[in-house]
Amino acid sequence: MSEAPAVSIDQRMRADIAEAIFDQRLAPGTRLSEAGLGEIYGVSRTVVRKALFHLAADKLVDIRPNRGAIVWQPSPAEAHEVFTARRVLETSLLAESLPCMTPTDHAELDRILAADIAAHEAGDRQAMIRASGDFHRRLAAPANNSVLLAFLDELIGRSSLIVALYDTRDAAPCAHHDHAALLADIATGDVAPAQAALAAHLRDCQDRLVLDAPATETPALADLLRGPRRA
Ligand SMILES: [Zn+2]
Repeated sequence: MSEAPAVSIDQRMRADIAEAIFDQRLAPGTRLSEAGLGEIYGVSRTVVRKALFHLAADKLVDIRPNRGAIVWQPSPAEAHEVFTARRVLETSLLAESLPCMTPTDHAELDRILAADIAAHEAGDRQAMIRASGDFHRRLAAPANNSVLLAFLDELIGRSSLIVALYDTRDAAPCAHHDHAALLADIATGDVAPAQAALAAHLRDCQDRLVLDAPATETPALADLLRGPRRA
């Protein structure tokens, strides 16, 4: 099976930009110039556009008429709306998913929690953000509703960006001890207390956001995407 090199470059560009956003190297509102990206990666604008459309579908990038693509810049109000929407959606999904959870689901949640703890110990912020999203997705997955799970996926992507952009008290998207406590509630199989614990956890995530506008100084794109990692 042969893969066109352009496809892998497109995927790498998408992953690089997402990583730069999660690592806070790319600030909200940073313009992602098609020509600039094309030059950095040595690809055509068509390839760049494809990567940008994927990032826009992930809600990490906003494509605006006359302004081109920019890193999504959620207002504090939008940030709150995203977390409120998650609370409504995730507590409802939990009522469907909890009674359907199998030992495999429980084992998978334990595995994700262990990965989250390891990420905290390593101080790997991107891995923490990923583990946090995976945990919430996995919690809802047994509900087996593809429409609601797609909504959730979008909300988790947007909240990852919000958490990456706005500092939180301890720089982590979710407190892993909250997830551990939540799993204890889930293990009882009792829907109401588990829903209450999940709602309280998401409210705490929301309260921990410091929604002051971050600085939007923008060094050259090439430095942000490929430059040596700064200490
Ligand atoms: Zn969480």
